Amino acid sequence: MISSLPVVECFHSLQGEGAHTGRSAYFIRLAMCNVGCTWCDTKISWSADLHPKENIQKLSENTARARSKGASFVVITGGEPLHHNLNYLCKSIRNVTKCKRKNSIPIHIETSGVDKLSGNPDWITLSPKKHAPPKKEILKVCQELKVVIHEKDDLIFAETMAQEIQLNISNKTLLFLQASWNNKEAENLTFEYVKNNPQWRLSMQTHKWLKVR
Ligand code: SF4
Repeated sequence: MISSLPVVECFHSLQGEGAHTGRSAYFIRLAMCNVGCTWCDTKISWSADLHPKENIQKLSENTARARSKGASFVVITGGEPLHHNLNYLCKSIRNVTKCKRKNSIPIHIETSGVDKLSGNPDWITLSPKKHAPPKKEILKVCQELKVVIHEKDDLIFAETMAQEIQLNISNKTLLFLQASWNNKEAENLTFEYVKNNPQWRLSMQTHKWLKVR
């Protein structure tokens, strides 16, 4: 049984990206990522050894506290959260946040999809990487596909991922493209592509535009 996990930071904010943009959420950023994206904006999260291990019960209690202050869901992010087995954390969050009047808080995860799924989350945002493609099992069950666009080739990768998802009958996965931060060429490319391919939606990193966490 896992009783603690390495944590970079926890904070209550608004979801800045994707389908749940603008909603109040509690974030748990777990440490450790071996995916090695050169453009990564959370390189500080790569090494688990640099971050303290936090007790799972305490993480769950902090989540319950954030919920009482308005968080509509919890986002487990990273790093790559699925490098860890999330069964214990998610079970604990569900137990602690369940109360007489309400069901447990919805659990979202943001993943590159390179690992086996764990934790039975309510919402999976899959953000696959060209150099480290995701596991097919996650493509089959994600609610949201979000592909970051740096250059033209990334649009081909995005379509390949979307086609794999859409092989599943009755698939309702939402498709998002997001331009890499501070890259005018990528912004134009992404904007024009979404305009001409309406099955895709534009994801903005609103927290970065607003300069908030
Ligand atoms: S998967 Fe995410 S955290 Fe890991 S290197 Fe890539 S962008 Fe960074």
